[in-house]
Amino acid sequence: MRLLIVEDEKRLALSLAKGLTAEGYAVDVVHDGREGLHRATEGTYDLLILDIMLPGLNGYRVCAALRAAGDDTPILMLTAKDGEYDEAEGLDTGADDYLTKPFSYVVLLARLKALLRRRGPGASPVLVHGDLRLDTAARRVHLADAEVTLTAKEFAVLEQLATRPGEVVSKARILEHVWDFAYDGDPNIVEVYISALRRKLRPGVIGTVRGAGYRLEAER
Ligand code: CA
Repeated sequence: MRLLIVEDEKRLALSLAKGLTAEGYAVDVVHDGREGLHRATEGTYDLLILDIMLPGLNGYRVCAALRAAGDDTPILMLTAKDGEYDEAEGLDTGADDYLTKPFSYVVLLARLKALLRRRGPGASPVLVHGDLRLDTAARRVHLADAEVTLTAKEFAVLEQLATRPGEVVSKARILEHVWDFAYDGDPNIVEVYISALRRKLRPGVIGTVRGAGYRLEAER
């Protein structure tokens, strides 16, 4: 799951990014409305957290421009408490939900998860493949009824494979969805996580397709 935060209050943006990264999301942050619109248009995000009062282009206009272009990525809008901007207007421009500052991080996380669950028909929070079961809302994994404890990043890598069972998922795709755009380390980090998952699950659950990527294998 990849999220974009468009928020010019840098401390708030960075603390949100830190919290959400710890939850296992890949998070990109920009501080300007125009840059936010550009990034949202170019990137493949699962959700946008969009402030309203932004330099460059305000959040309403970013939201309206995305919707006008047919982009239906869920948008959670943030606004200041003073009531200068009202909720109705935010929802009118196509935002999916609205949060007034100051908000609790726990509330933001709950709203964000609700939006991600709601997104798209057939987007089930529970992915089942053979005897492997991923609950994407609770972020828990079971294999043949035994719970497997994964780190947030391990879970995110497995989730990328489990949403496309039997299909080859490229290393680039996993990198793009699990690590953020600022990641400039070794792309072989994906291999490290795949190895860890194989150890924790069982050999053969994740297959390697040489030169192409990885695949969640059919039950044998
Ligand atoms: Ca602002």
